[in-house]
Amino acid sequence: MPQEIYSHDTIYIPPREEHGAPLEVALGCSWAECTFCDFARDDFCIHSDERIARNIEGLARLFPEADRVFLLGGNAFALSCDRLAHILRQVRAKMPGVRTFATYARADDVLSKSAEELDVLVSLGLQALHIGVESGSDSILAERKKGLTAQQMLEAFRMLDIAGIEYHITVILGLGGREYSRLHAIETARLLNRIRPASIWCLKLVLFEGTPLWRDWKAGQFEAMTPAEVLGELRLLLSNLTVRDCWFEDTTVLDQYTLQGRLPEQKNTLLEAIDRLLAGCADS
Ligand code: SF4
Repeated sequence: MPQEIYSHDTIYIPPREEHGAPLEVALGCSWAECTFCDFARDDFCIHSDERIARNIEGLARLFPEADRVFLLGGNAFALSCDRLAHILRQVRAKMPGVRTFATYARADDVLSKSAEELDVLVSLGLQALHIGVESGSDSILAERKKGLTAQQMLEAFRMLDIAGIEYHITVILGLGGREYSRLHAIETARLLNRIRPASIWCLKLVLFEGTPLWRDWKAGQFEAMTPAEVLGELRLLLSNLTVRDCWFEDTTVLDQYTLQGRLPEQKNTLLEAIDRLLAGCADS
């Protein structure tokens, strides 16, 4: 990626957004407290108007055919509505083919905006947010310092439903450790069943060296799960899901497979595939 418009050689964009043009508007995460996260290596900063204008110029040259732009930053939706609206207008002026926008958000970035502000952003093309739910269990969320409760997330998703903004959810399997695996799966399914996610992307917990959770694990205060145990947790989560019109995937199954399908239509097929993999784990 050209240095002049991206701060790092590697950029993180959800797989479903890879067709979009990535526009860096911020760095780092405004929260940066989650004990498992190494996504927030950069201190949070919102780029200056001049830098964003330069990035848009560069983006227009790099992606002349783009019809969608993904705003980069750990949670670029932390920007104020006015700032976001200004950016969306600037992009549309320089890149007339762009029709829709998506970005990463925390649920409290949604809660900090009014219904009217969300409507303004929708009118400018905001179409989707990618939000890390991680867990539906309040105790796990608190323990991992997510800074949000399941109820707060529920309220944010209701606002998005009303505004007509699609949301894509990530869940971190194994986040409760071995001790709270069952609670994590059941409570997460309970939360997801009360919202209308366009997709659910499950990822196995990675213990990144230097993070607080990695230190807990090193100190014997966190019991990490084996890949097979995480697969069992995935099965429990999926078997409890009743979501509709939802794409479901796990790209980290046993560290080597991807499972994906539509819910509820392919739920049984997915469960059967998990059972075959679990049987293989038991045999080996
Ligand atoms: S909100 Fe997301 S990006 Fe920010 S610290 Fe937590 S997991 Fe990391």
